[in-house]
Amino acid sequence: MKLFVALLSVLLLASTAKSTVTIYESSKPGDFDFYLFVQQWIYSYCDSQTCIQNKEREAFTIHGLWPENSDGSYPSFCSGPSFNVNDITDLEDQLNFDWPSLTGPNTDFWTHEFSKHGTCSITGPITDIHDYFATGIKLYTEFNITAALEAENIYPSGSNTYKPADITNAISTHFGGKPGIQCSSGQLSTVAVCIDKNSLSVMDCPELQGWSCSGSVKFPSTA
Ligand code: 5GP
Repeated sequence: MKLFVALLSVLLLASTAKSTVTIYESSKPGDFDFYLFVQQWIYSYCDSQTCIQNKEREAFTIHGLWPENSDGSYPSFCSGPSFNVNDITDLEDQLNFDWPSLTGPNTDFWTHEFSKHGTCSITGPITDIHDYFATGIKLYTEFNITAALEAENIYPSGSNTYKPADITNAISTHFGGKPGIQCSSGQLSTVAVCIDKNSLSVMDCPELQGWSCSGSVKFPSTA
């Protein structure tokens, strides 16, 4: 019996120590495999949310640049600088257009994206807050999803439907890397391009949980 109690105590201590490590282990900047560059289709996002912008603008806008691991985990809220809009004044006009919040003040959205994802992204070519947002703008210009889809005859429409593979193949063909897509109520809502963390060039996305659509997919139009 004494041996049993002793063994039980050791096991309990071990499990307490393990959970302590898990609780206090914080994400370190740069400790991830690749970036997901995530863009949202305004119409689909605003179909399921109350948006401050109307759905008239037929466009993808930036949701975020997210450090990600191949196993689906990701670091967040790393230690690092706090978002300060004064660091990106030269980018603000462009960000207001390319990386707007569809639901609230843009600076609140940028603060959230930088503290959750940007702090962990300070590595390699991204050295500070300015680099993080400048990289977002650069990738947005480089990965024009609407143009890629149109080049493969996939247009926003109230009635057309597409197979998920039509959409991913079109983006792959155009940019050279397999993307991730998400749908909401059967509508294409989000596209993620995977980006190498050192070269910032496109790469194939690994199979990512939660990044797939099924059935017939609409690419909804404002018209
Ligand atoms: P995430 O945590 O996925 O990087 O960002 C989602 C958070 O940003 C949510 O709290 C959401 O309310 C806020 N947010 C503000 N504006 C937007 C927007 O335009 N799109 C999305 N997806 N989230 C936004």
